[in-house]
Amino acid sequence: MQYGGLIIKGIGGFYYVEAAEEIYECKAKGIFRRQKITPVAGDRVVISVRENGQNTIDEILERKNYLNRPPVANIDKLFIVSSVCEPNPNLFIIDRLTVIAQHSGIKPIVVFTKTDLKPCGDLLEIYKKAGIDCCAVSCVTGENTDFIKNELNGCISAFTGNTGVGKSSLLNAIEPSLELSTGEISTKLGRGRHTTRHAELYKINGGYVADTPGFSSLDFESGDVIMKDELAECFPEFREYLGTCRFTSCTHIADKGCEIVRAVNDGIIATSRHNSYKMLYDEVKNIKEWQL
Ligand code: ZN
Repeated sequence: MQYGGLIIKGIGGFYYVEAAEEIYECKAKGIFRRQKITPVAGDRVVISVRENGQNTIDEILERKNYLNRPPVANIDKLFIVSSVCEPNPNLFIIDRLTVIAQHSGIKPIVVFTKTDLKPCGDLLEIYKKAGIDCCAVSCVTGENTDFIKNELNGCISAFTGNTGVGKSSLLNAIEPSLELSTGEISTKLGRGRHTTRHAELYKINGGYVADTPGFSSLDFESGDVIMKDELAECFPEFREYLGTCRFTSCTHIADKGCEIVRAVNDGIIATSRHNSYKMLYDEVKNIKEWQL
């Protein structure tokens, strides 16, 4: 029997595929190795289920996106978790992740935790103005944890957040069994340098959450390189100004006649967002097409 399914996890050459309400252990067909394609969690696949248990992955459907650290495919939403204090939020790191998400076709959602310790202040306003979904949560008072749980429905989501921002408490508040299972996985794999980081999808509220030790630090990496010409597009609040600057070669840094710089000076675009743009531009400006 052939089924369409979703890879939930892969360990030691075996892939666990959810199909027709069951989990099937499968091996990938040899053709993928010859094509140098490794199936990953999140891949939508076609499998053959056989009576002798020798199930195979026959086909991997085209990926909507691919994140390589840790390896996972087809993420719909990325929750970028930071705390309002202890530790203080790093807006550059948050913005960098929103850019990676936008560029990969993932919807970023910025989440500020620990609002019971300190009010969120202007932070939410920065992201609301940028047209990026954001919310403030407290795992102590339970504020907005239901909002996040509802957002999981029907999607594959990932959470990223540094140690101490309360990511684990948040996941635990949303679904106690999630934290339990991720804890088990981390212990089994260990945290050593040579252990393989792998992603696993957990079913929660009609959706899937990818979690892995790799997502516990803010070092999410996309398989795609962002070129300097694409960067401004990854800032949703810049888009309406693109093409309106005096010079078509405008880099939107401090150029004469730049409409984005004007919007920053007028207070329409947040200064912190433009600062992040300038720092990211510096990172990507020397990447040339031929280097890829
Ligand atoms: Zn400009």
